[in-house]
Amino acid sequence: MYNTYLIRYGEIGLKGKNRPQFERRLMDNIKRALKKVGPARVERVYGRLVVESEADPARVLERLSRVFGIVGISPVLRLPLDEEAICAGALEVLRDAAGRVQPPAGSPLTFKVEARRSNKAFPRTSPELNGLVGGYLLKNYPGLKVDVHNPLVRVGVEIREKNAFVYAAEVPGAGGLPVGAAGKALLLISGGIDSPVAGWMAMKRGIEIEAAHFYSFPFTGEKSLEKVRDLCRVLAGYTARIRLHVVHFTEIQKEIQKHCPEELRVTIMRRMMFRLAARIARQRGALALVTGESVGQVASQTLESMLVINRVVDIPVLRPLVGMDKLEIIQRAQNIGTYDLSILPYEDCCTLFLPKHPATRPRPDQAERAEEPLAVEELLNGALEWTVMEEIRG
Ligand code: ATP
Ligand code: MG
Repeated sequence: MYNTYLIRYGEIGLKGKNRPQFERRLMDNIKRALKKVGPARVERVYGRLVVESEADPARVLERLSRVFGIVGISPVLRLPLDEEAICAGALEVLRDAAGRVQPPAGSPLTFKVEARRSNKAFPRTSPELNGLVGGYLLKNYPGLKVDVHNPLVRVGVEIREKNAFVYAAEVPGAGGLPVGAAGKALLLISGGIDSPVAGWMAMKRGIEIEAAHFYSFPFTGEKSLEKVRDLCRVLAGYTARIRLHVVHFTEIQKEIQKHCPEELRVTIMRRMMFRLAARIARQRGALALVTGESVGQVASQTLESMLVINRVVDIPVLRPLVGMDKLEIIQRAQNIGTYDLSILPYEDCCTLFLPKHPATRPRPDQAERAEEPLAVEELLNGALEWTVMEEIRG
């Protein structure tokens, strides 16, 4: 019955002069998200977007609920600005919604009409419409009862410039800002639980993500890379496409293993990762790095370690997980669909080379001294030369 969807967006409505640009971005992202399920039309109706698609509503809603920037989605009937048509449409959406709610045994189906009129030329005010449509529904749907406080069904009526929209359901959107509205960043993605969540959180704030994975074949096998690709595919489901840079990290790992004191290996390895990431970011026009670090989880994530690691780059490093507990991160990973992949037991390059007693409070001068035997510049160039960019679609 539905082929039209009313899209509400919150925050981007507040952005003043940027608003048209944000709306355009959101419209593009919606079109891209729906491409997989079929052709769609997206139209701006003051303060809202209207999507038309003939595809299966369940699939359309599933796709739309992953587009950042959307606050709520309602399947709607688009009607002429005509009272009779509005009343008949309201009855239709009520009947449809009634099939999906269960009043407690012996209780009537309760409802409420919520009319909103942004087109002031329409001759009825919102309260008048509430009365008119409510009265019509009571007369035509046996056993119905009004409950303005806690109704089972809310029938929405929106009077806009050219059309009226009626609906009886709202699906929550993903919130946030449209991906791309805030520029681009490079996500350092491992196969773990944290970094995919960090990438998702950056995307939620409108940041377009490209990903880099440091790959130490054959110390880590093809399966661990496949897992990273799968994680990127899940993230791409929120934005249509993710570019993944697979960085050849084996030589660097070997050199660190050979020349650097054991307790500082993780620190040095991270410094090399950051240096490489900063260069890829510059090449790709990314303005920040994003990592899955949080404070205090492991040796390399003390503030002292972060200071020493962060020193080798001058690009901002975003760490969206700093305020989260492990349990919260796990829950988020489950919600966004990355958790089951992340816990697959394939080795990450880091777990493989983990020293027994990594330094938890390394000092910058120690790290610099420990790096002296490494031909840093050559190693970086060598790794970048073998870096491959893949395009992963959601
Ligand atoms: P995660 O769960 O994301 O693996 P973690 O808690 O295991 O994180 P670390 O191993 O200390 O923490 O890694 C910290 C961050 O460094 C990761 O979140 C990720 O952003 C980055 N990182 C670690 N290993 C790699 C890798 N092989 N390729 C790309 N980035 C990596
Ligand atoms: Mg990890």
